[in-house]
Amino acid sequence: MTDTAPVKSRVLLVDDDPAILRILGKSLEVDGYSVEQAADGLDALRMIEENPPDFLITDWDMPRLNGLELCRRVRQLELPHYVYVLFVTGNTGQNEMIAGLEAGADDFVTKPVNRGELLARLKAGLRVLDVERKLTQQAHTDVLTGIATRRLFVNDCRREFDRAKRYNVPLSCVMLDVDYFKRVNDAFGHPAGDVALREVARALAAQCRASDFICRYGGEEFAALLPETREVDAVIWSERVREAIAGLRINLSGKLVALTASFGVAQSSDEIQTPDQLIALADEALLAAKKAGRNRVVGQGELRNAVTGDREFVAANDLFQDALARDIMSSPVASLRHTSTVGEAVEYFLRYRISSAPVVDEASRVIGILSEQDCIATMISRDAWKRPIHEVMSRNVVCYDEATPVRLIYDFFCRVTLRRVILVRDGEPTGVISRSTLMRWLQHWSSVRHGWRAVSDAGDFDEDANSRTQIARGVDALLDRSLSLRARLENQPSDAVPILIEGTTQIQELCTDLLGYTRGPTTQREAQDLVSHFL
Ligand code: GH3
Ligand code: MG
Ligand code: MG
Repeated sequence: MTDTAPVKSRVLLVDDDPAILRILGKSLEVDGYSVEQAADGLDALRMIEENPPDFLITDWDMPRLNGLELCRRVRQLELPHYVYVLFVTGNTGQNEMIAGLEAGADDFVTKPVNRGELLARLKAGLRVLDVERKLTQQAHTDVLTGIATRRLFVNDCRREFDRAKRYNVPLSCVMLDVDYFKRVNDAFGHPAGDVALREVARALAAQCRASDFICRYGGEEFAALLPETREVDAVIWSERVREAIAGLRINLSGKLVALTASFGVAQSSDEIQTPDQLIALADEALLAAKKAGRNRVVGQGELRNAVTGDREFVAANDLFQDALARDIMSSPVASLRHTSTVGEAVEYFLRYRISSAPVVDEASRVIGILSEQDCIATMISRDAWKRPIHEVMSRNVVCYDEATPVRLIYDFFCRVTLRRVILVRDGEPTGVISRSTLMRWLQHWSSVRHGWRAVSDAGDFDEDANSRTQIARGVDALLDRSLSLRARLENQPSDAVPILIEGTTQIQELCTDLLGYTRGPTTQREAQDLVSHFL
């Protein structure tokens, strides 16, 4: 650490007094800081969101948004690096200090500002920022290969994904896994395996443009994100990387060893609503590349074309037909407001026997998901009951538009361990598809199909009559459930919601069963209308 600020640290100076801005600003510039200014908290917040400074030096009392609230809001932002917050204030009473620290302040200077003191405090702040920078750098750099870690990659993905959606430009993701890598370790030992991984990373990095992102995704798996690149071009790029890796001759214990890798490629599209889904699809294509014999590149598009030539998958496509998420989802969905407290959420979960719920903002848009597990994990800490749930919920919620083909959601469930996805219309939750919803729907379709096959094998069976009996049974059960729901509601009118949720879910499942007897999306919807008419 030197006496002067290294590479001009950036300061955002916020005060509603133009004289203070002028004097302090000048003096900081003389001392080697690059200074930007704002006249109130709101302007400052906007500037921080756009391009966060190293230091925020803020006044306490200001119009529109005061210093304390500004500090609180800054701490809630997800910024690429830490912003060191220093209050310049006449309020240095103990209570103000405590309020400032609780809002996330790092330090205080009293008015009138002593220049030497301010500089000394900034220098102390620089030490903190320096440590923070080193730690972030460590967390973002894979020790073995020197390329980015998965953590940084996921951040990059989020940003690039939003950008691609906003400007409607293509974005492709590539997942790469070294083939039979375990054998390298087994034959040459783990340290030699490490050397090989380093070489693979180097070969991968050599094929990248400055705008590409690559990372070590885990173990012997790497990922790349290619902005403004369509899948066909990402496949060509992957082919180049594949050839480069296959061409390596790595010296392991004096022996020149060759390696290969498999690649999966996916491009962002309207159906893909989160970066996690994009990664999951590239991973799915990677699995197909492995299954197809390794040392190859498979793109999602190719995967879809290829599977239509495969008899099993023809059946699968036929099975899904044009079914959309809204045709099979369970609704209504029980949502929680992001400002509700943990205490309220716990009561809600226990009362309605719900294990998780999407969390929505003021505009009713899904911003996260809260589970019993999230509540349990925070319940024992002090003041947990009063905390707003947006602080403890998981932001990693997978949402699909309710018009998404079921096939896509099925593919997604095949690749990930998540138990449910939320369906939305214009960002607002309208339903849920859980693994069991999907399993039930699939089971039904296959049992109907299987039934037909068994029947035609037997030869002398009236299949129409058989279906008719089953449909009649289903309709009877529907009537039964509806009557029982009405009776329960009449007996216990005060707490209707759990009864309604349970009853209508059962009815909905029966409807899905009945719909299984129809074929083709048109008849399916006609039947749905019929059933709802009957209800
Ligand atoms: P596949 O073609 O199906 O991908 O086979 P594989 O052997 O590459 O895959 P598997 O997942 O069975 O084995 C991955 C191996 O990668 C096992 C693990 O020990 C090794 N590995 C993961 N991380 C490291 C590492 O940092 N260094 C070394 N040397 N080996 C690693
Ligand atoms: Mg492997
Ligand atoms: Mg692997």
